[in-house]
Amino acid sequence: MEQLQEKCGIFGIRCDGSEASRLTFSALCNLQHRGQEGSGITSSDYNRIYFHKGLGLVRDVFRKDSVIKKLAGSMAIGHCRYATSGGGGLRHVQPILINDDFAFGHNGNLPSIKSLHKFLRGKGVNVKGFSDSKLMVHAIHWYMENGCSAEDAIVAAYPLFTGAFSAVAMTKTSLFAFRDKCGIRPLVMGKLNGGFVFASETCAFDLIDATFIRDVKPGELVIVDDSGVRSIQVMPSEPAFDLFEEVYFMRPDSLLDGRSVLSMRYKSGTILAKEHPVKVDLVVPVLETGSYAASAYGWKLRIKVIEALVKNRDAKRTFIEPDQRTRELGVLMKHSPVPDIVKGKRIALMDDSIVRGTTSKHLVQAMRDAGATEVHVLVCSPPVRYPDFYGINTPKREELIAAYRSVGEVCQYIGANSLHYLSLEGLIKSTGMPASRFSTSCFTGEYPISLEERALELD
Ligand code: 5GP
Ligand code: MG
Repeated sequence: MEQLQEKCGIFGIRCDGSEASRLTFSALCNLQHRGQEGSGITSSDYNRIYFHKGLGLVRDVFRKDSVIKKLAGSMAIGHCRYATSGGGGLRHVQPILINDDFAFGHNGNLPSIKSLHKFLRGKGVNVKGFSDSKLMVHAIHWYMENGCSAEDAIVAAYPLFTGAFSAVAMTKTSLFAFRDKCGIRPLVMGKLNGGFVFASETCAFDLIDATFIRDVKPGELVIVDDSGVRSIQVMPSEPAFDLFEEVYFMRPDSLLDGRSVLSMRYKSGTILAKEHPVKVDLVVPVLETGSYAASAYGWKLRIKVIEALVKNRDAKRTFIEPDQRTRELGVLMKHSPVPDIVKGKRIALMDDSIVRGTTSKHLVQAMRDAGATEVHVLVCSPPVRYPDFYGINTPKREELIAAYRSVGEVCQYIGANSLHYLSLEGLIKSTGMPASRFSTSCFTGEYPISLEERALELD
């Protein structure tokens, strides 16, 4: 099976009126940061399911009004996908529609597919080339074809899903939203037009004027149909939300427990200023994610903050480039230093994370080339020492620069005068939530959901 590790955006709606697909389109535009590779929407008028998907940005896939118009009905689910090298292509774009009667959109990744393989093979399904998402949908569908309602089928298939999933699904008449027992990836629920909406992040609600109600709970299945809304706690909840969502992935205006991600990132800068004050003339954020922590850091220590690395907003994300050389070129294309601001100054660069070290290494050199006399690097999260198996596209352990190196050695590798990471305690403090709420696997190697066969990759 292809190892597709995806971090995606999902949305679902069941409401009055016929605007479901248009609202889904708008909501997906606000979830675009969660995946730029491709996007799809399925809708239903309660008689038939309509489907459109394509590669590229949401606004391009659904550019034509005629496309949205054809997606009729008052129920829809949508997805935008983020994929790694080798996992591209239209056939992987979701929702996955099966038999024209069940559609499914998944955010997350299942590290273990052993039980799913065993189950489906046992039923005579040829699973060759199936992604984890496709295996999930086929397992649910097998139960549907064997007499279960979609609701019962999802509940029956739950124990086969070993990993992270925040998902939306629909039949011709009912909408479903469900989450793994840890709630590793986000999923929120809201109200709109006499109906209900679900989205990866609250920023999707803001754009369509939906009202946030609550999170879909870890281990919970929410069903919306003719008789209204109801919920089944399929698995006992063991909350472990991925802390890296807050560090890097979520949009700053999205809310977690009523607090914006922006305020968390700002706070992380304040705490870093306490933990590691450095003597510099200028703090320069690595955009976008480093900017809030940089403002706070500079404010706290009375150091000027200037965006002296200008971002090319059209540049593709470097992180997912297939090879190191393309990634390096990508970093340079993405950030241009402004020499007359930087020249003769002691600089502190602020980034949200160091993964492979490509970004930091190049930006340190670029700052020196632009005339900086000292370049210090500040990181508003701890060293990433372990790979992610739950849907974030972090590389293999040996490619993580901090996996087997001390902070001093990483500093040497990136060529900085000094390097300072925020402590894990500091990062958790900045969220305002207790440590017990989070999965910190990429920092600590503690994985809340069993990795099964993929645990071998940690050695
Ligand atoms: P590095 O260059 O060290 O491999 O990656 C670090 C940079 O990647 C940081 O600037 C950080 O903002 C960004 N980053 C961290 N996690 C992710 C991710 O999951 N996806 C993408 N596209 N970028 C990431
Ligand atoms: Mg960055």
